[in-house]
Amino acid sequence: MTESTRPAPLYITMHEHDNVAIVANDGGLPAGTVFASGLKLIDKVPQGHKVALVDLAAGAPVLRYNVAIGRAVRAIPAGSWVHERLLDMPEARSLEGLPIATVKRAPLPPLEGYTFEGYRNADGSVGTRNILAITTTVQCVAGVLDFAVKRIKNELLPKYPNVDDVVGLEHTYGCGVAIEAPGAEIPIRTLRNISLNPNFGGEVMVVSLGCEKLQPERLLPPGSIAIVDERSVADVGASEGAGLDVVCLQDEAHVGFMSMIDAIMSTAQEHLERLNGRRRETVPASELVVGVQCGGSDAFSGVTANPAVGFCSDLLVRAGATVMFSEVTEVRDGIDQLTSRAANPEVAEAMIREMAWYDAYLQRGRVDRSANTTPGNKKGGLSNIVEKAMGSIVKSGSAPISGVLSPGQKLRDRGIERGLAYAATPASDFICGTLQLAAGINLHVFTTGRGTPYGLAQVPVIKVATRSDLARRWHDLMDVNAGQIADGAATIEDIGWELFRLMLEVASGRKKTWTEHWKLHNSLVLFNPAPVT
Ligand code: CA
Repeated sequence: MTESTRPAPLYITMHEHDNVAIVANDGGLPAGTVFASGLKLIDKVPQGHKVALVDLAAGAPVLRYNVAIGRAVRAIPAGSWVHERLLDMPEARSLEGLPIATVKRAPLPPLEGYTFEGYRNADGSVGTRNILAITTTVQCVAGVLDFAVKRIKNELLPKYPNVDDVVGLEHTYGCGVAIEAPGAEIPIRTLRNISLNPNFGGEVMVVSLGCEKLQPERLLPPGSIAIVDERSVADVGASEGAGLDVVCLQDEAHVGFMSMIDAIMSTAQEHLERLNGRRRETVPASELVVGVQCGGSDAFSGVTANPAVGFCSDLLVRAGATVMFSEVTEVRDGIDQLTSRAANPEVAEAMIREMAWYDAYLQRGRVDRSANTTPGNKKGGLSNIVEKAMGSIVKSGSAPISGVLSPGQKLRDRGIERGLAYAATPASDFICGTLQLAAGINLHVFTTGRGTPYGLAQVPVIKVATRSDLARRWHDLMDVNAGQIADGAATIEDIGWELFRLMLEVASGRKKTWTEHWKLHNSLVLFNPAPVT
């Protein structure tokens, strides 16, 4: 680029009280650069990294999002690069004496008239895809199931054009675990609730080994599958609904490997028949259940993509939909913001309980929430977990928080069928995604700044890039470019609406996301805080 076409030097401030801002320009800016405000850079500052807007005394709070993300370890003159080595990180906010449900705001105005085409389920939930999922009780069966799923896709699926896919729900749990230990209920209920995700139409089948600790009846006890309404009983015949549909590999009836494969295929065929009979119908946007998550974050995550997701989250709440945010270590430093936004004291108490549980869990491993930030986060300008958390929380928008889930719990079981919910999960992308699947999402939104090819086989994942440079390089992996906000080409509201409209298209099956197009599917990773034997 010539001098005349190069964009003007630009920094972005998040709040009028902030004493640092981040450099917006691709490639960063050299020392000597003068901004329109008259501020002159003393150091070279990489893109997304912080510049001191004023002279900071040693020990002074460094403010971003109007929150102290640390204290200056020495005097920092205006125009300096404020990198992580210049910041002393504050202690985590105490869980005592937090503001409880103090924010009273007028309800957001309803947003009416938006619909999508979805698959209604007998339990009242709505799917955005029509997928046969095959549940497993134990990792031992994964190879056999993979073999069977390949054959089902090649030989059976073409005969059932209304079925989108066949997915084996494989995982590393099931045996070699202390199944009675405190915490073991988390992976078990996660797996149970994933099997009941709205995108699977209530068609549950299980492949088990036979000798494993996690027996099929323990995974899916009688009554857990509330799927069979009168219409499907008529369709299915009397045998269905009576018990669990299990193919057990150690069953003495099996002689030879092909006997196992044939059994899985013939059971799958019965479920495919029923799934194939389903049709999309017009449903209100309130049937969306959206999980939002960020991964591979940079300093732009909290400036472009996450605020746009937050705006969209408010649109979803206004439309009567359910939206869920997660990632305990990425909200821990903003817990006062969240307890104050709780719809009632019970929700705030539940939030505090989840934070305390997670603090203790991390302490057992002799770490704290600061173990969260990655080398990539720091390279992208995020100095520490406080700064990362402030940018992460904005995904939740401004609605009151109306419910809290413990890891692996399902929204509908907790009576949450509307509004903004918080699901306590690790921030690890694939563990968070796995737990959000269990919560019952039918759509997933994932923001990234450094770039990750993350995707799920079970629900569509809409990927939002925080920077135009990433959106340009990963043009066939990113669905939305929120980097336009930093470029000045779009507003937070523009991108929020773009995302909302895209959600309805994707939910209706009219549009595929890039990860669906390329079939980029991460493994299910169950959160197991209990011992392994
Ligand atoms: Ca994450």
